[in-house]
Amino acid sequence: MAAPRSALVTGITGQDGGYLTEQLLAEGTAVHGLVTPGDPLAAELLARSPQVQLHEGDLLDEASLAAVVAASAPDEVYNLAGISSVAFSWEQPVRTADITALGAGRLLEVVRQHDPATRFVQASSGEVFGEAAVSPQDESTPLRPNSPYGAAKAYAHHLVGVYRGTGMHAVSVLLYNHESPRRPPAFVTRKITRAAARISQGRQDELVLGNMDVRRDWGWAPDYVDGLVRALRHDEPQDYVLATGQAHTVRDFVTAAFARVGIEDWSGLVRVDPAFVRPADIAVLVGDATRAREVLGWSPTVAFDELVARMVEADLQS
Ligand code: GDP
Repeated sequence: MAAPRSALVTGITGQDGGYLTEQLLAEGTAVHGLVTPGDPLAAELLARSPQVQLHEGDLLDEASLAAVVAASAPDEVYNLAGISSVAFSWEQPVRTADITALGAGRLLEVVRQHDPATRFVQASSGEVFGEAAVSPQDESTPLRPNSPYGAAKAYAHHLVGVYRGTGMHAVSVLLYNHESPRRPPAFVTRKITRAAARISQGRQDELVLGNMDVRRDWGWAPDYVDGLVRALRHDEPQDYVLATGQAHTVRDFVTAAFARVGIEDWSGLVRVDPAFVRPADIAVLVGDATRAREVLGWSPTVAFDELVARMVEADLQS
């Protein structure tokens, strides 16, 4: 019997890493994960998915990556690691570049040297488009990032194209915002659903936000993880946008979340603090996933109201 397919996942303790691990294990793939020493989220991952094999290493340390790739001998590499928050990238722009941009480069090079037949997928972001001239954006839209996070992801995206040019099966998938009850509360969606739940239960007084007028394209995280797998396994390596195509304001999200807990007028419960307003922010970010629909048969399964409902319900239980 042939050995099971082997996958190496970086960023495995994050929201997407957890869902990806569950999907791959369920189909019988052996899942290896890269974790930085002392990652506090590793225990939670192992509790959910005990079969996963974790390896210590760091995208900042090329030798550690070479050791992990040699030990796991992956058929597929999913690079989900990086600074995941745009807000944090403004606090630590150089670290963001080192991990998210150069880290992807270190991993690509290690994988190429180990076995150039290994398939590689990079989790990229709609943030690479910045304040794009066209909306919605697709794979042909020029990259024009306006955050350290977006610039780092743009470098990694370009490098994947460079390695693909050498014959590697490397793809970059431009993921728009994708959420779930596992989203950390530093992200605006979970911050809102958690606050709505807690305020309705008398456990919190107010919700303090930044710019409520920005519009984002929010989808259901497990759909996006499934899109990564489909993109990597398609025989023709190319890049894909994954998005719902629907944009909503942060204010819409607030209204939908409070409505779920029976609060129609939330005006006295939500305050804007300039501390949460970013030095530069993208006003509207919405993607066109036509290529993924047509080539991969991918489509989002959870619409906006249902996404908000699932997140609020989970927070009411916690
Ligand atoms: P991102 O797209 O990865 O940056 O995801 P976030 O959930 O952190 O932010 C989405 C949008 O919500 C950005 O345009 C933020 O400026 C906006 N936003 C407004 N208020 C807040 C807030 O209090 N926290 C966060 N994280 N974002 C906020």
